[in-house]
Amino acid sequence: MDAGLKRELEAKVYAGERLTREDGIALYDSDDLAWLGRLAHHRRTELNGDRVMFNVNRHLNLTNVCSASCAYCSFQRKPGEKDAYTMRIDEAVRKAKEMEDEQLTELHIVNGLHPTLPWRYYPKVLRELKAALPKVKLKAFTATEVQWFEKISGLGADQILDELMDAGLESLTGGGAEIFDWEVRQHIVDHACHWEDWSRIHRLAHSKGMKTPSTMLYGHIEEPRHRVDHVLRLRELQDETGGFLVFIPLRYQHDFVDSADGKIRNRIQARTTMASPAESLKTFAVSRLLFDNVPHVKCFWVMHGLSVAQLSLNFGVDDLDGSVVEYKITHDADAYGTPNTMHRDDLLHLIWDAGFRPVERNTRYEVVREYDAAPTLAERRAEPQQVWA
Ligand code: SF4
Repeated sequence: MDAGLKRELEAKVYAGERLTREDGIALYDSDDLAWLGRLAHHRRTELNGDRVMFNVNRHLNLTNVCSASCAYCSFQRKPGEKDAYTMRIDEAVRKAKEMEDEQLTELHIVNGLHPTLPWRYYPKVLRELKAALPKVKLKAFTATEVQWFEKISGLGADQILDELMDAGLESLTGGGAEIFDWEVRQHIVDHACHWEDWSRIHRLAHSKGMKTPSTMLYGHIEEPRHRVDHVLRLRELQDETGGFLVFIPLRYQHDFVDSADGKIRNRIQARTTMASPAESLKTFAVSRLLFDNVPHVKCFWVMHGLSVAQLSLNFGVDDLDGSVVEYKITHDADAYGTPNTMHRDDLLHLIWDAGFRPVERNTRYEVVREYDAAPTLAERRAEPQQVWA
């Protein structure tokens, strides 16, 4: 990057000026990862100091049966396939209760678009989960699923959200966003929920007082300009509603075939690689700088491995998601040896070892508990450090 442009961008960041589309593309064009990290870390520190938030959550995927066949997805199964499953409500409750002793604060529920499960199943499952675990917040369903519920119930999203909130829904999840630009989207997405519906449903949720996360799936066939466009759409919506709490860049994953039938379901695998750790760190940094009105940027450690998750804390990230028991969507796709579960203590040490102060949060990013700051660098150097895989 031209030295003059670099100085100009740096001055804008330090003056707190909003970056443009061209600025975002120029930042992605830079190979100076340390410089990008410094800028993003400046912004992250202004917003969140030395804090790193995490929560104690469990992911539940009620069914992997899906009517759509998104090209990148290795989670979906068709009815009758060997490892297709749909949980009975009591089974979902039993799984959720397995973590009761860990002072679970959130259940994160995302599912396939099941062709025959009736709409009534969904509020019912929330009601029973809430009755079994009244203190646990329910973060459930993507905008894509809400749009699916409109289709199968004949109701509008307004009524659907009211009913789900009445059954205990605290927040939607951020999925189904992938990349909004149609140039890319038409090749990777098979469901019918695109920017117009995704933004309509989140806008509606925000108008009802709900706070939601936002996501972006990167590292497949998109180019940096598509990532910039994606973030700018979200930034504009955030200017309007203020309802997004966090932005989560999700790293596209290859399918390493751990399914019962040995099939690779990811149809773009042969013509894609996966984002390298450096590309991921760049994406975190540029996202933090561009999406200036979202309070938090999250690294979902399951998709990156723990060392990259620690590094990301110096590239704009201030949230490491949670203890994440049994995340089937990535663990159906990866073979990186990242653990399926991190307990509260593991997360605390992961954050301290990276030099930050852990803060446990709830679904609304309210503080559940503040912990001590990290030991000083000299103290950390004095002891052999754990290497996080
Ligand atoms: S990404 Fe979601 S909607 Fe698309 S095929 Fe997979 S489970 Fe179905």
